[in-house]
Amino acid sequence: MSTTENQKFSTIAIHAGQEFDPTTGAVIPPIYQTSTYVQDGIGNLRGGYEYSRGGNPTRTSLETMLAALEGGKHGLSFASGLAAEDSLLRAILVPGDHVVLGNDVYGGTHRLINRVHGAWGVRNTTVEMSDLAAVEAAILPGETKILWVETPSNPLMKISDIAGLVEIGHRHGVIVVVDNTFASPALQQPLSLGADVIVHSTTKYLGGHSDVIGGGLVINDDELAEKTAFIQFAAGPVSAPLDAWLTVRGIKTLAVRMERHSSNALTIARFLDSHPAIETVYYPGLESHPGHELAKAQMSAFGGMLSVAFSGGETAARRFAESMHLFQLAESLGGVESLVNYPSEMTHASVRGTELEVATNIVRLSVGIEDIDDLLADLDQALPTS
Ligand SMILES: *Cc1c(COP(=O)(O)O)cnc(C)c1O
Repeated sequence: MSTTENQKFSTIAIHAGQEFDPTTGAVIPPIYQTSTYVQDGIGNLRGGYEYSRGGNPTRTSLETMLAALEGGKHGLSFASGLAAEDSLLRAILVPGDHVVLGNDVYGGTHRLINRVHGAWGVRNTTVEMSDLAAVEAAILPGETKILWVETPSNPLMKISDIAGLVEIGHRHGVIVVVDNTFASPALQQPLSLGADVIVHSTTKYLGGHSDVIGGGLVINDDELAEKTAFIQFAAGPVSAPLDAWLTVRGIKTLAVRMERHSSNALTIARFLDSHPAIETVYYPGLESHPGHELAKAQMSAFGGMLSVAFSGGETAARRFAESMHLFQLAESLGGVESLVNYPSEMTHASVRGTELEVATNIVRLSVGIEDIDDLLADLDQALPTS
C-alpha cells in the first residue's frame, strides 16, 4: 500500500513507502542491514541497489515517507539534521555566495553556515525574520542564494510569515529553505506555501522517541534534488538502515503525537501564564503571543515547544529547571517524554556573546505526551511559592 493520492495526513504517515515484504508477507518491511547487493551478472542490479552508501531499501522507504509527509517530490535522508543541511548548502553554494538567515535559527545551523561554510568563502547575514522589510533589505541581489527560515523559532517561538518570505525570496531569485523541525509536517506544510526546500532534524518530532539521530530534506526541483543526492552519495552522510527504520516507525504515530503535544503544551502555557513567578510565556497558541494570528493561519495547531521568562532572573530560572522530576533536564526536544532545558548554558551555549544569545532567565520546555495532570503537578511543585 503506497499510493498517497487523495489520502489524508495520518494515513500517509502510516503507509507511504511501506510495502509489505514480497517474500514472506511481513507487514513491516525488514531492516535491510546490508552494505552491498549481489548482481545478476556484471552491472545487472536488482531494483537499482548496488552499495548502501548509494542506496538502501530501508533508507528509500524513509525517503519516500519524508517526501509524502511534506507533499513534495524528492525526499533524502541523512545521518543527522546538520548532515542534511550541509549537503543542501554544498549543493547550492559556491565561494562568495551569501545566505540570509534568522537571528534566532538553531545554533548549529548558524555555526555550520558561519564557521564551516564561512571558511570556504560563504557569507551570511542574520536578520529578524518576522520583519519582512528587514529581510528584503538583507538580500544582496545576485549574491544571496538562500533565505533560511525557521518557524516557530528557538527558543522564543517567534513566528515568521512563510508565504511573505517566499514572495520576497522568489522576487530576488533566492531559494527559500524552511527548517520545519519544530512544527513538523503534521502541523505546517511550507511547500504548500511556496517554499522550495524543507529541512528536518528527524531526531526530534519525526523520530519522536529520543532514540535516533537523523535528518531529512524534501526538495521539489528535480535539478536541485539531483545535485543534493549527488553530495549525499559522494560525501556519504547517509542514514544507517536501523536509524531509518526507527525513524519510519516513529513517524507512523506523528499525527496523534502532535495533537497530544499541542494540547498538553497549550494547557501548560495557560497555567504558567497565570503564575506570578513568570514574566512571559512564549507559546504561539496564546492570544498574547505576537505571532498568534500568523500561527493560526499557517499552522493547524501550535506544537509542543514553549519557553518561559522568570521575573526572578537567572536564579529562579535555574532553580526551576533543576527542580523538576518528570520533566528531565536534557537538550533536544520532540520526544514522547517531557524535557526541560536551560538554553543559555545548554542548547544555546555556543551562541553566548553573539546576537543569537538567549537571556539567562529563560527556560525552555519540550512538552511530552504524558498525562497532563502529572505534568502540571510536576511544574507546580517546581515553581516558587509566593
Ligand atoms: C536539532 C535541530 C537541528 C539539527 O539536527 P541534528 O539532528 O541535531 O543534527 C536543526 N534544526 C533544528 C530546528 C533543530 O532543532
